[in-house]
Amino acid sequence: MVFGGETVILMGPPASGKGTQAVSLAKEKGFVHISTGDLLRENVRQQTEIGKQVKEFMDAGKLVPEALVIELLKKRLEQDDAKTGVVLDGFPRTLTQAEELEKLLQSKPIVVSLEVPDEELIKRSTGRRSCSQCQQIYHIYFNPPKQEGICDQCQGALIHRSDDTEVVVKERLNVYREHTAPVLNYYRKQGVLHTIDGNRPPKVILEDIQSLLNL
Ligand code: AMP
Repeated sequence: MVFGGETVILMGPPASGKGTQAVSLAKEKGFVHISTGDLLRENVRQQTEIGKQVKEFMDAGKLVPEALVIELLKKRLEQDDAKTGVVLDGFPRTLTQAEELEKLLQSKPIVVSLEVPDEELIKRSTGRRSCSQCQQIYHIYFNPPKQEGICDQCQGALIHRSDDTEVVVKERLNVYREHTAPVLNYYRKQGVLHTIDGNRPPKVILEDIQSLLNL
């Protein structure tokens, strides 16, 4: 398959805010938000064959086998609602994935990398909660829901991801530096990478991303 829609790739270490930005941006642009992490977690929840294969990797903060994620992404891109454009969140995470994605895309992606200091990432992730229904993201101190444990938007139950503990987040940061940082260089060389200070209020970051996309 060849994907002909617009592609925005949001990159950044765990808890850099890429999920929050991806949801808002997709809504604004009328694009589909594709998070490989969400797709994988859904498989784990439903105890599918894929879910059973990936659970251990995810709980340990490791990358899941490449072929499997690429296949999941391809299937999602093929769906009708993705035709106009997509915001990718959590993919690509390795050079191989970036190369595979390039084969699928008709035109060059726009890549946005959110930069946030490590101490801040750990603080953010341990307090992070997400809606089990609509994936809206909250933080117990910085952005709490009106009612504890309940999503403001859809009343779904809020969950704390099993990989958002300090030990696992540190491992995810190591994985990011080792496997995902080279992907940033790959896009920098292609002239499609934009880095953004992610240590600011989400609304301000979103405005910056929107102005980038309108260039
Ligand atoms: P995320 O929700 O993006 O933080 O992803 C959660 C976890 O899902 C990661 O720590 C990995 O175990 C797995 N995962 C998500 N996307 C990928 C990917 N593109 N390649 C490999 N593993 C992934």
